[in-house]
Amino acid sequence: MGIATVNPSTGETVKVFEPLVAEEIDRRIGLAQQTFEQYRRLSFAQRAEWMHRAAQILIDERQHFGKIMTLEMGKPIAAAIAEVEKSASVCRYYADHAEQLLADVTIETDASHSFICYQPLGVILAVMPWNFPFWQVFRFAAPALMAGNVGILKHASNVPQSALAIEEVFLRAGFPTGAFQTLLVGASQVSQIIADDRVKAAALTGSESAGVSLASAAGAQIKKMVLELGGSDPFMVMESADLETAVATAVTARMINNGQSCIAAKRFIVQESIADAFTERLVHKYAALKLGDPMNPETDIGPLATAAILHELHEQVEACIASGAKVLIGGNPETVPTRSIVALQHGNFYPPTILTDLPIDSPSRQEEFFGPVALLFRVPDLDAAIELANSTSFGLGASAWTQNPEEQQRCMRELEAGSVFINGMVKSDPRLPFGGIKRSGYGRELGAEGIREFVNIKTVWVK
Ligand code: NAP
Repeated sequence: MGIATVNPSTGETVKVFEPLVAEEIDRRIGLAQQTFEQYRRLSFAQRAEWMHRAAQILIDERQHFGKIMTLEMGKPIAAAIAEVEKSASVCRYYADHAEQLLADVTIETDASHSFICYQPLGVILAVMPWNFPFWQVFRFAAPALMAGNVGILKHASNVPQSALAIEEVFLRAGFPTGAFQTLLVGASQVSQIIADDRVKAAALTGSESAGVSLASAAGAQIKKMVLELGGSDPFMVMESADLETAVATAVTARMINNGQSCIAAKRFIVQESIADAFTERLVHKYAALKLGDPMNPETDIGPLATAAILHELHEQVEACIASGAKVLIGGNPETVPTRSIVALQHGNFYPPTILTDLPIDSPSRQEEFFGPVALLFRVPDLDAAIELANSTSFGLGASAWTQNPEEQQRCMRELEAGSVFINGMVKSDPRLPFGGIKRSGYGRELGAEGIREFVNIKTVWVK
């Protein structure tokens, strides 16, 4: 299917969209460029006024926007509404702080006066995924627009209505036409956009393969990129942890967004002495999760976003089982209760699954599982836990549960990840930089670092 809304709960094609033709893409980039020439000169106060208005539109219409997301990619409706609220919060954060974050910085040198100033780059391309259709876009757009850049969005092909709704939010908020545009284009059209001289930089949130492809294309044009890619975050539970809280958080951290989050906890690394107790509680909580229609507020877990994702996830689970892993719960999409509900029979539902005893040489240990599947490992001590946690090619987030101050210090310093959360689940926050190392990508979004990614950090020296 090209660019279309396909309801993942039912399999029904709701609406199909024609991709833009090359001439229209060219025209839109031209509009973005023209807009930039004026927009860059506006005051922070003017941009902030529009950004606050965008936040207010999101808050006022959160139910409506939440329903669009749930329809297009299946996240439970309460989570979708919370995502709209969080998107409003990032608009407000940068509306209130951009001017201070980008203020000139005086540096004493041999000059009479030397300082750093931060200036916008121009048209920035954002290539975004479907899993947080609003949040991912707003966490790019709020800092980019507040810095004086203009944005063009290529959203994932399965969330076109979300993409169009976001463009409309910015227009209704008062931003000039051309400050933020949604281009309905397929992945194959992105190289044309990156190669365009008027496009100065790009941000991608998505898979490793998209990262390789886009970063190569941007590299060939010497254009800066921020890459937010996949992860296989460890969730480490040591003997001294508050077990009840750790187990409850483990469920949320794995199941968030029906298991389809880059920073979802994916590998549970538990100290041997508490592993039985942890496992028993985890299985019990998994068994109680309600799978079903994501529009129903009672539902804990909706469908996976597309049939292809379900297929791929199940192949990974089968490969684990074939290599010797043991299934503690789930593992078979044929057995989900939604199969007996006529309206949901063709939905992409996957049961909450826990796999353990994965052999040391299983290739699955290196993979990201993008769905409600937890991998459970037992380790004798912290050394083994840290070694296992760091043993993947990813380095996005890590969560470590221990009350022991020395263990906490070691986790903070020794875990190879863009963020480490002690006694809490990994999450993003407008005030804190977010991003990864290793094959999870490079660059940062959010915080002061995020707004300084797409600016010219200019040194000025005056004698
Ligand atoms: P994806 O297939 O890479 O798609 C992401 C975006 O990239 C979509 O807009 C897609 O367009 C586009 N795209 C894919 N291949 C491309 C190519 N060769 N050239 C240009 N554009 C291309 O990723 P996904 O499956 O939607 O998202 C899940 C992945 O994103 C997971 O790995 C997850 O961990 C990662 N993610 C990372 C973060 C983070 O902050 N680090 C956050 C969320 C998700 P089409 O839809 O048209 O193919």
